[in-house]
Amino acid sequence: MPALSYLTEQLDQFRAAGTYQRLRVLGSASAAESRFDGKEVINLASNNYLGLCTHPKLIEASVAAAKKYGAGSGAVRTISGTMTLHLQLEERIAQFKNVEACVVFQSGFTANAGTVSAILTPEDHVISDALNHASIIDGCRLSRAKIHVFPHKDHAAAEQKLAELDDVPGRKLLISDGVFSMDGDIGPLPELAAAAQKHGAIMMVDDAHSSGVLGRNGRGTVDHFGLHGRVDIQVGTLSKAIGVLGGYVCGTRDFIEYLYHRARPFLFSTSHPPAVAAACLAAFDILEQEPERIDNLWKNRQYWKEALDREGFDTGLSETPIVPVLVGEADRAYRFSQALFDEGVLATGIGFPTVPKGKARVRTIVTATHTREELDRALEAFRKARKTLET
Ligand SMILES: *Cc1c(COP(=O)(O)O)cnc(C)c1O
Repeated sequence: MPALSYLTEQLDQFRAAGTYQRLRVLGSASAAESRFDGKEVINLASNNYLGLCTHPKLIEASVAAAKKYGAGSGAVRTISGTMTLHLQLEERIAQFKNVEACVVFQSGFTANAGTVSAILTPEDHVISDALNHASIIDGCRLSRAKIHVFPHKDHAAAEQKLAELDDVPGRKLLISDGVFSMDGDIGPLPELAAAAQKHGAIMMVDDAHSSGVLGRNGRGTVDHFGLHGRVDIQVGTLSKAIGVLGGYVCGTRDFIEYLYHRARPFLFSTSHPPAVAAACLAAFDILEQEPERIDNLWKNRQYWKEALDREGFDTGLSETPIVPVLVGEADRAYRFSQALFDEGVLATGIGFPTVPKGKARVRTIVTATHTREELDRALEAFRKARKTLET
């Protein structure tokens, strides 16, 4: 028997359970309408909130940077891979977020995992929302700190846990997503920040789905709630609304310099190509120069969610442009997603273990660049595809 045959058995089990997933292949740019598997569809499955993936200024900036500085950076940041462009981007983000300093990682995933694992030891404690992103969970595990999970958005439970830990040695890190990626709801940050302050805990927010979406010009949930100075660590991503790739961590200068010394993805994985850093820099210009993109995003989100609600779809807890349609078990979500695709809409089916059993869904994300006509056509596809759920 080949050594890896147990994996083939696992795949057979996925197939039997109706949870086997094939990758959809994008044959065009990521945009409001894109070609997947050779078919033009309305794309409700990207995180390209503001349409920046194809913004001419981002493309021009990346082409110019590649021509001037080459295709790659040549090394990890701490050896010889820190380019002027990297520092410019970090200064730009720090200014935008109104914090002392910022460090950019290869992705939001490595920003979270690298940061949490760098600042905690096995003697410390993490108090973490049950629906926090996988990269936070992995960072917590890598740190070997004690992990205390509180029920989703239950800030009273989080504070209760902090109170119980008051006399227990070790540092405490209270951590929440700003916007939760599967439900599109917003974390109770004012209450969490108050609890952290009261109990002397470090407060950390992962703003992956709020960067470019919430707050003035997309400054994120800390700005949205007016919590400047009360959140110690802000993580954001450059891969979603910013339209490119990367993750960043904001905080005090010393905290950021500490990460230079101890965050393992920073130390052991090569920095972004110049084209990536230059495109991200251009994106921050767009956030300030074209605020109408964010306005359109929220108008479209309102229009789309109201349309789904009117049709009687269960959009769960959504408060943001992430609008899930809950359908029950995973196989139903995958079936619905396929029917939608056949009707010309890409919306991803998501089931266990990404979301709890019985809470499977088709997740939709509208963007600033979808037209009303596209959203109306998408709604018609939802009406038709719904029939597959009635059997
Ligand atoms: C997408 C996401 C990340 C990871 O960001 P990438 O830049 O894609 O690696 C981290 N946290 C949350 C909450 C996310 O939704």
